[in-house]
Amino acid sequence: MMGTTHAVFALLCYYIIAYFMKLPFDAPAVLTFLIIGSLLPDIDHPRMFLIQQNYLFKRRARRFIKHRGIVHSLLAALVATTIVWVIARLYNLEMLTVECFLLGFISHLAADSLNPTGIMWLQPFSKKKIRNGIRTGSATEKAFFTLVVVAICAVLYTAHPEAFSSLLKNLQF
Ligand SMILES: [Zn+2]
Repeated sequence: MMGTTHAVFALLCYYIIAYFMKLPFDAPAVLTFLIIGSLLPDIDHPRMFLIQQNYLFKRRARRFIKHRGIVHSLLAALVATTIVWVIARLYNLEMLTVECFLLGFISHLAADSLNPTGIMWLQPFSKKKIRNGIRTGSATEKAFFTLVVVAICAVLYTAHPEAFSSLLKNLQF
């Protein structure tokens, strides 16, 4: 899946939970950690900016870092969330930021499971893959993206109709 699809899908997952649990829709730190979590697993992608910019790393990356390898697993989600939890404790950030980081990460794995390449959620313990038919960058992914954006608007409108209408007003030039 593309980065934008991961970001909007994570946002939709959070907004649905926020709607039922009466959580904030516009907390900047929370949404930032959510989006970071939703994009982080693709740090193993060969076309990732960091890998492309570092020549030495780029050569090694091809040999050692496998896209959708260990970084795309529940184990990596737990390790990364532990690191974020330590950072949150150090900087007195609310625990919701840590929970949202984990949610973003898990939503990334869920979205990649819709892809034919699939995800080995339980690696390195199991190589069982969950996969589906939506190819990255395909018309189906674009339709999925549009559907997610419409769903976000629907949740936003249901939860905060006043904020939604002021957002629409701000978008008009
Ligand atoms: Zn991915």
